[in-house]
Amino acid sequence: MSEHYPFSNPPLPYAYDALEPYIDARTMMLHHDRHLRAYTDNLNAPLADQPRLQTLTLEELLAIYPALPEPLATQIRNNAGGVYNHRLFFNGLTPAANAVENHSHPLYGAIGRTFGNTGDMLQSLGEAAMSVFGSGYAWLVLLPDGSLAITTTANQDTPPLGQMLPLLNADVWEHAYYLKHYNNRYAYLGDAMHVINWPEVEARYDAGMGLS
Ligand code: MN
Repeated sequence: MSEHYPFSNPPLPYAYDALEPYIDARTMMLHHDRHLRAYTDNLNAPLADQPRLQTLTLEELLAIYPALPEPLATQIRNNAGGVYNHRLFFNGLTPAANAVENHSHPLYGAIGRTFGNTGDMLQSLGEAAMSVFGSGYAWLVLLPDGSLAITTTANQDTPPLGQMLPLLNADVWEHAYYLKHYNNRYAYLGDAMHVINWPEVEARYDAGMGLS
């Protein structure tokens, strides 16, 4: 991906109501059009007078921000992270009719070796998501040795992309579920598991393994 400043907020690849009844249309609209839009705007704003940074991709910004002075470092950490994490999240969802695993795909062999089966992996991902205190994410990641792991991050932190490739994430900020599920994060996670974009997760695995 070569996109750099000014970052845009492209439309969702599905309708706001496409994930009903699991994730409601109003949540999707506010989450994409307000929350992700704000992260995008709040990333572009501090980059406006930083020409050296304007050619960097999201991944590059996330790699170099620790070397920047404050408050720029924190602005990039929170907002480049917010854009990266939300794009991965939204593209990792799809209408339930499309949320179908291709069981012959090597991703599921890797899931089997690490977790047992897909249900066991989702249980581990859900437990990790429940363990996040406050706002953050749970992640399924691919490690350099080809194995899979579950990790969590706080706030809009992104896993260290030089050490692991995110395949799937669960946004557990309350803005991801409060309108429908109120404070019941567990019910939200159970619903979201019906609309996982498995073809996209398979493609991310392929890219990470150099298969595509
Ligand atoms: Mn969010």
